[in-house]
Amino acid sequence: MILAAGIEEKNKGTLYIVGTPIGNLEDVSFRVLDTLRKVNLIAAEDTRHTRKLLSHYNIHTPLTSFYEHNEEKKTPQLIEKLKNGNSIALVSNAGIPSISDPGYHLIKTVIEENIKVVPIPGPCALILALIVSGMPTDRFVFEGFLGRTKKERMKKLKELSKEKRTIIIYEAPHRISKVLSEIKEILGDRQIAVARELTKKFEEVIRGKISDVEMIFEKKKPRGELTIVIEGLR
Ligand code: SAM
Repeated sequence: MILAAGIEEKNKGTLYIVGTPIGNLEDVSFRVLDTLRKVNLIAAEDTRHTRKLLSHYNIHTPLTSFYEHNEEKKTPQLIEKLKNGNSIALVSNAGIPSISDPGYHLIKTVIEENIKVVPIPGPCALILALIVSGMPTDRFVFEGFLGRTKKERMKKLKELSKEKRTIIIYEAPHRISKVLSEIKEILGDRQIAVARELTKKFEEVIRGKISDVEMIFEKKKPRGELTIVIEGLR
């Protein structure tokens, strides 16, 4: 049973969902650092990755791994710790945990167990890509990754073909050419923005019709992390 907010049991710990940098280690708030320091345990998608952030800020909190394939198995262990009064910070490799990253199952279970959940803000690639895209920000939809197989991607794109709101998707650089041509095929040659390596040294935003962006990528293969923003149906 989910109880109303504010009546979580007092002697239980708290789960902090902590946003961490998406590239630039300076993108952390005082509150993020304070939380990572004061919790009893940090549940991290990749402990080696998070250790780099912790050592940059001289933080020595114990880490435990919490990734896509052990999330369900690990959740009861973390719940037990929270019930015993320990506080835990959940972090992923980049950005906000549970946004195309592990965390949803744990967060849902923590709420069901009447344990307090506190979000600690940090960068999120989809929001940063949206605001630099130059496309309407008043209404938008986020699709995460369209999928590994062409069948999955085509199904989602067909569902999106009448979407009037700005569309944001995550994609891996090795699939970008394929995905851009599939978007063009189903949604038409629309205006897009590809935000690449946000917050990092080689940050760039490429804006134009899909065919223009394809021409740019033919000359120079895109590398690194990228987020695609697509204009809604006009
Ligand atoms: N939880 C993360 C967040 O809050 O943004 C997203 C994690 S998801 C596994 C990783 C995807 O986010 C990448 O494949 C890419 O599409 C996008 N992404 C992450 N970092 C990025 C960056 N620095 N620039 C552009 N896109 C990025």
